[in-house]
Amino acid sequence: MTDFRPLLDELRRICGENQVLTTASDVEAYATDWKRSAKGTPLCVVRPANTAEVAAIIKAAGSHGAAVVPHGGNTGLAAGATPGNHGDEIVLSLGRMKAIRDLDPVGMTVEVEAGAILQTVRHEAEKHDRLLPVSLAAEGSAMIGGIVSTNAGGINVLRYGMTRALVLGLEVVLADGTVVDGLRHLRKDNAGYDWKQLFIGAEGTLGVVTAAVLRLVPLPRDSVTALLSVADVETALGIFTLAQNTVGDALSAFELISATSISLVEKHAGLKSPIAAGEWYLLVEASSSLSGLETAMETLLTEAFERDLALDGVVAASHQQAQALWALREHITEAEAREGGGLKHDISVPFGAMADFLIEAGNAVAAVCPGAGFNVFGHLGDGNLHYNILLNGAADHEAVNRAVHDTVGRHRGSISAEHGIGRYRLSEWLRTKAEPEQRLSRAIKQAIDPGGLFNPGKLLPKTSIAGGAE
Ligand SMILES: Cc1cc2nc3c(=O)[nH]c(=O)nc-3n(C[C@H](O)[C@H](O)[C@H](O)COP(=O)(O)OP(=O)(O)OC[C@H]3O[C@@H](n4cnc5c(N)ncnc54)[C@H](O)[C@@H]3O)c2cc1C
Repeated sequence: MTDFRPLLDELRRICGENQVLTTASDVEAYATDWKRSAKGTPLCVVRPANTAEVAAIIKAAGSHGAAVVPHGGNTGLAAGATPGNHGDEIVLSLGRMKAIRDLDPVGMTVEVEAGAILQTVRHEAEKHDRLLPVSLAAEGSAMIGGIVSTNAGGINVLRYGMTRALVLGLEVVLADGTVVDGLRHLRKDNAGYDWKQLFIGAEGTLGVVTAAVLRLVPLPRDSVTALLSVADVETALGIFTLAQNTVGDALSAFELISATSISLVEKHAGLKSPIAAGEWYLLVEASSSLSGLETAMETLLTEAFERDLALDGVVAASHQQAQALWALREHITEAEAREGGGLKHDISVPFGAMADFLIEAGNAVAAVCPGAGFNVFGHLGDGNLHYNILLNGAADHEAVNRAVHDTVGRHRGSISAEHGIGRYRLSEWLRTKAEPEQRLSRAIKQAIDPGGLFNPGKLLPKTSIAGGAE
């Protein structure tokens, strides 16, 4: 058993006595994931104030044989920020590093520290008539470092891409404490390997993201939101094509919500859908710097009714009404958590395979878990669904996961569209990912974090300090 007391003393010297938390009550919030499905026992939680302190912490951890788990807003849905159970991992909380260092409305960039809350940065950008397009229901807690490290998606991917498409530069701290300053505000930079791409979506397994330069876009002045109900997913896909033809490149969100998801939100969040029920609902938003969207959205709804695609529908008449429609979508994850018994899947399949996937996966799950419910919702416009199973009492989780992911595999989809692997999906990643791709991932880890210092057992199996698999 390693004596970590000298390390704790060193961490206190680096960050100050109050920024190293060790008591069970102080570390509890950092030791459990958002879903409360994973719990760990960290050696301590350490809260640095700046990049130099992060570098000193990493060096100290490495020299005393402790691992480091980077921790942002703890809203991740793959248990990636939760430490293991052996008391030899430091949780490195970036929450005190929250400065917005520079916002350039002309160059349309923002440079922020890793602990800045996504919503705060979005609000700051809006004050300058600019938009940071990453938007998700957890944006009041999720931090920029976590957003970058999970390559977060959200509701605007259709129009602006995932976080990766918005990252222009990163500052990272490597396993030997080296600070790599790549905080360039450049849209074009082909001077060698684009190393920052490796850290985007790495889930804290390669280094610590301490700051980022993100791309902004003009703030849309006009936005229009509609809710429609439809009988089946084939019809929903038909409306997506129609939306692309009528609303065009102003289409910014196209979300699918099952009737079950709406029932959960009505039950647990006290909200009410304003339209007649269908098997599925569509939340559609268009936004633009130019006006005239309302006419385009009304054309979409008129055509959807004329072709007998939509059962019912409403266009929000005010910002308040639009927010009320979005609230139905944004409360689903929390409503599911309150219902309990949800087994989450975050899948993507090619657009044309979506309807077949839903039928085949439904049959496969029913075969291994009779009586299961389905809380299905997500970013249909991105081919990404949160395909969550409401378990009916005791169930074989692994069999259900296999049923879903094998169906995903048959359609050449992904078992993690936007939430990452973390420790939640690691066994399924190992089971389903092709060997050459796994080998490539291990080679990247070995090249950048050969001692296995960062986030052991997440995204890849744990490696010992000597680099061998445990
Ligand atoms: C209600 C709800 C809705 C959500 N909706 C979406 C959605 O629509 N789309 C989507 O993509 N996600 C969604 N998520 C998941 C989550 O919000 C995102 O994954 C988010 O990016 C996590 O940010 P965080 O700061 O909370 O990171 P954390 O949960 O703290 O960490 C996530 C991972 O990143 C690593 N990490 C954190 N900070 C750093 C850093 N500075 N350097 C290196 N590694 C780091 C951690 O080790 C961990 O592996 C949702 C979550 C909730 C609870």
